[in-house]
Amino acid sequence: MTMNRRQFIWAGTGVAATLAAPHVYAASHGGAPKVVVIGGGAGGATVARYVNKDAAGAIDVTLIEPSRTYYTCFFSNLYIGGFRTMESLAHSYGGLATEGVNVVHDHAVDVDRTAKTVTLASGAVLPYDKLVLSPGIDFIEGSVPGWDVTQQNRMPHAYKGGSQTELLKAQVEAMPEGGVFAMIAPPNPYRCPPGPYERISMVAHLLTQSNPTAKILLVDPKDKYSKQGLFEEGWQKHYSGMIDRIGPDFGGANVSVDPMAMTVNIDGSEEQVDVCNVIPAQKAGVICERAGLVQDNWAPVDGRTMVSRMDPDVHILGDASAQGDMPKSGFSANSQAKVAAMALRAALTDSRMFPAKFSNTCWSLIAPDDGVKVGAAYEATEEKIASTDSFVSQTGEDAALRKATYEESLGWYEGITSDIFG
Ligand SMILES: Cc1cc2nc3c(=O)[nH]c(=O)nc-3n(C[C@H](O)[C@H](O)[C@H](O)COP(=O)(O)OP(=O)(O)OC[C@H]3O[C@@H](n4cnc5c(N)ncnc54)[C@H](O)[C@@H]3O)c2cc1C
Repeated sequence: MTMNRRQFIWAGTGVAATLAAPHVYAASHGGAPKVVVIGGGAGGATVARYVNKDAAGAIDVTLIEPSRTYYTCFFSNLYIGGFRTMESLAHSYGGLATEGVNVVHDHAVDVDRTAKTVTLASGAVLPYDKLVLSPGIDFIEGSVPGWDVTQQNRMPHAYKGGSQTELLKAQVEAMPEGGVFAMIAPPNPYRCPPGPYERISMVAHLLTQSNPTAKILLVDPKDKYSKQGLFEEGWQKHYSGMIDRIGPDFGGANVSVDPMAMTVNIDGSEEQVDVCNVIPAQKAGVICERAGLVQDNWAPVDGRTMVSRMDPDVHILGDASAQGDMPKSGFSANSQAKVAAMALRAALTDSRMFPAKFSNTCWSLIAPDDGVKVGAAYEATEEKIASTDSFVSQTGEDAALRKATYEESLGWYEGITSDIFG
């Protein structure tokens, strides 16, 4: 089944009410109450769009995002595999601006939670009544010894969309015949649990077309990973003999790299490689630390409203949040944004709150027309966002079902990007 945009919007959330426009909130800075959103990705752009649209002018919404074009990480692996163009992953903020969101292309460098202001790199200071943080992830320094962001052109992470993804694909295409592609996979928790393994599949697909004697070395610190049985079955079927995974039992958790020498050291044994995709350990985007809202690398929130457990005037969405059972995905961020938008409108106008419900599905492409998925429905409890029901593709499924699963993901991409960016 291919989802259309309207089906997607209603399937993605339990928040399905038109909310009242009149407001009762006394804005602390005068005029309509101000919501400032930091980060224009899956979570931030959605919350800005929904608050603006449903408050119908009763709330003043500003979105801060440095980039003029957002390149989705979702489907970026398909670009590496040759199934999408980069242009098809690009989204502008013109739709949000046209709908009335004040889009500011700048970087938020500080948050003063006492004065309730955000400082931008340009020096501008923006007051807020409610702040939303959806800055995505940053990398934990030193998590892969030998690697830091100054080396990302020699050993790309390609875990933020855009130029890094293009660079990684170009490096794979330039590999010598019979060369070695290595990936250092991240430890839990990290953005998009099946993402590294879908990427391995797409690199393998590309190599089978142009460089079939090349090898793939997957160095993984985790015992197990998302959709493991499905990926292993698919790799055996489509790319037999090409992919070697070194898990923690064989030293996959004890890894360092030398970007200048293009070597990977696995538990004392040195491997010369041609391309090395280092996906480091991750943490909440650094602006969350600047705001003083982080514990153990992530920003704890109450899943009923996505409000910070440390500040009732700040909501935190998407990958940066510690919310419970939801994976760090674009689908999750979009779903959480709708719950946060409802909570913001309820706090700033006289609109109603409904119990928070969330959903997520992560599709992965293993080979042409061989798509698999995993997903769940969630509800918020006092403690966390808790999974209530789940599903996953099965090994041994027939080709028609796998093709239909892939086609469903194409509908999802169109639906979610329209929902995020208008
Ligand atoms: C290879 C790969 C494949 C993926 N595939 C899927 C998939 O199939 N399905 C799926 O649902 N998800 C997928 N994801 C995950 C998905 O991309 C993320 O989970 C999602 O983008 C998270 O949304 P977010 O709003 O938290 O962060 P982001 O979408 O990363 O947005 C954060 C934004 O904040 C901005 N920002 C950061 N700091 C600041 C600051 N200080 N000031 C202003 N702006 C700031 C950034 O520029 C960025 O635009 C994939 C990820 C990867 C890497």
